[in-house]
Amino acid sequence: MQKERVIIIGSGPAGLTAAMYIARAQLNPLVIAGTQIGGQIAITHEVENYPGFWSEEQTPTGPELVEVMQKQAEHFGARFDYDEVVEVDFSKRPFYIKTYGNEYEADGVVVTAGASPRHLGVPGEEEFIGRGVSYCGTCDGFFFRGKDVVVIGGGDSAMEEGIFLTKFANKVEVIHRRGELRAGASLQKRAFANEKISFVWDTVIEEIKGNGVVQGVQTRNVKTGETTPLKTDGVFIFIGHYPNSQFLVGKLAMDEEGYVITDERYRTSVPGVYAAGEIQDAHFRQIATSVGQGAGAGMELEKWLAAQE
Ligand code: NAP
Repeated sequence: MQKERVIIIGSGPAGLTAAMYIARAQLNPLVIAGTQIGGQIAITHEVENYPGFWSEEQTPTGPELVEVMQKQAEHFGARFDYDEVVEVDFSKRPFYIKTYGNEYEADGVVVTAGASPRHLGVPGEEEFIGRGVSYCGTCDGFFFRGKDVVVIGGGDSAMEEGIFLTKFANKVEVIHRRGELRAGASLQKRAFANEKISFVWDTVIEEIKGNGVVQGVQTRNVKTGETTPLKTDGVFIFIGHYPNSQFLVGKLAMDEEGYVITDERYRTSVPGVYAAGEIQDAHFRQIATSVGQGAGAGMELEKWLAAQE
C-alpha cells in the first residue's frame, strides 16, 4: 500500500490545475492520470478560447496546452501515475484508491475524472467504431483525406470538429435533429461560411451501414418521417457527454445523470474528497472554467487538510 498525502484522480485541465495548486502548497500530490494525460483537451485540435493566447500563431493545440500545464505542476512537485482507478473506498480515512497496478491510501482526494462522448445508440454504431465511426475529428480526421463524412450534432463540438474535418474531407455534411444550431454565434458563422460544409436539417440517423467499413447512413426527417439513404465514408458523432463517474457510484452523492454533486467550494458528500471539472459540471464545460474549478478545489483541500492537523 502506497501512502500519499493527496491524490488527484484525472489529468484534464481541472486535475492539472488542482495538482499545481496543491504542489505549490508543498503537499507533493500524486495525479492518477489515466492512460492519456490531458483528458478531452488532449484530443482537441486548437484551443482559441483559453485566456492568454490572442493571435493565430500563438493559439495552442490541446496537447501543447496539456504539456505546459503538466510541466508547471511537475515544476512545483506534482507526480504522475499513468494508470486508471478501478475502485475507491471513501467510507473512512485515509481514503483507499486502487488502480490496475497499485493500491494507495490518501488523506485527501480531488476527483477530476471528466466526461466522455455520448453514443447515439443506433444499429451499426458500435460495430463500426474505428472503421468509420468516430467521436474525435482531431484523432481520426487524417484518415478521411479526400473522403465524404457526416457530422452528427448541432452544438459547439459538432461545428468546431466539422470545420476541422474540412482540412481533410472532401465534403462534410452536418446532420442535425432540429432546424437551428445550438452552437455559439462565432462557430456558426465559420461553419456557414465554409464551402465544404452543408447542412441536413430536422434529421436523425437511424442506422449506420457498411461492409467492414462505413459506407452510408439511413436518415429520417423528423418532420416528414421520410427516410433516405445517404452515402458516406465516415460518421463523426458529437452529441454531448456523460460523466466518468461509474467507479464512484455509491461512494459520492450524484445527480440522476451521474454528475458528482458539489457545493460552492467543490466539497463532495464526503469531507476531504473534492471534485472539479466536468465530473461535476455539465453546464460550462470549458477549459477556462475547469481550470478555475480545479484551482478552487485544490485551495479548499489544502485548507481542509491544514485544519485536520
Ligand atoms: P451540446 O452543446 O450538448 O450539443 C449537443 C448537440 O447534439 C446538440 O445540438 C443536440 O441537439 C445534439 N444531440 C444530442 N443528443 C442527440 C441525439 N440523440 N441525436 C441527435 N442529436 C443529438 O454538446 P457539445 O457540442 O459537446 O458542447 C458541450 C459544451 O462544451 C457546451 O457548453 C459547449 O459550449 C462547450 N464547447 C465549447 C467549445 C468552444 O467554445 N470552442 C467547443 C466545444 C464544446 P439539440 O441542439 O437539438 O439539443
